[in-house]
Amino acid sequence: MKQLEPVRNPQIILSFDFDGTLHDPAGSPTVSPDFFSILKELRESRGAVWGINTGRSIPHVMEGLLDNGFPFLPDWVVAREREIWMPNQVGRWIAHEPWNGDCARELEEFFVSVKSTLDAIRAEVEEHTGATWVEVPGDPAGLVARTEEEMAWIMSRVIHLTADEPFLGWQRNSVWLRFGHKKYQKGSALGEVARHFGLTAADCFAIGDSHNDFEMLSLQAAARVACPANAVPEVRAHVKALGGYECENGHSHGCVEALGHYFPAVG
Ligand SMILES: [Mg+2]
Repeated sequence: MKQLEPVRNPQIILSFDFDGTLHDPAGSPTVSPDFFSILKELRESRGAVWGINTGRSIPHVMEGLLDNGFPFLPDWVVAREREIWMPNQVGRWIAHEPWNGDCARELEEFFVSVKSTLDAIRAEVEEHTGATWVEVPGDPAGLVARTEEEMAWIMSRVIHLTADEPFLGWQRNSVWLRFGHKKYQKGSALGEVARHFGLTAADCFAIGDSHNDFEMLSLQAAARVACPANAVPEVRAHVKALGGYECENGHSHGCVEALGHYFPAVG
């Protein structure tokens, strides 16, 4: 995959969720070629640096880029809703430090401090639902529900059981849930990406379709927010309440539409 010349004087940050936003598994192609044309144009004419801000791990992001024929690499990636990665001159993904290291260390300590709360959630989930508790390296607590309805019930219990834990957060994407520290999510990671490029939330655009996009679809993270037509109702309502842009088109066609809305000289 080609790596484009780095943007010399970044002016705008573009943040795209991947699954359900850029990528439509039922689409043919899965990502519209128009999306890549408009990105190239925005990079050249407006100094836009673009990235993927996703719950996927970095190897899973790379797989997604290859499988879906991305013609060039993003300028940055946020993986697992918190880790920041930047490509080096030969297109190899390098961890953004000290952010990633600090994040891993803080999370490790934090999970020790909230263990009893997570144990209580796990006990309820395993007693009352068919959801599967998931523990993997780097993500010591998460779950997969069988249905959206089951996840809705679990969410109501999670909110109740975490009432006394001010920093215990989670990222939900459909039937998947990952626990974490409220400090680290797509919004704060986007803030760090902007800071790295010498920019602020006023210079950021973000688009996403699901619950784990809430924090980047916020005015603290991005002055320009949007959701594709296929976004879940809660995200649509949220974007509308913020005065953001609700697309008429889904997935990458929505991304193209939203970029045309916010950067009208293009396209
Ligand atoms: Mg999504």
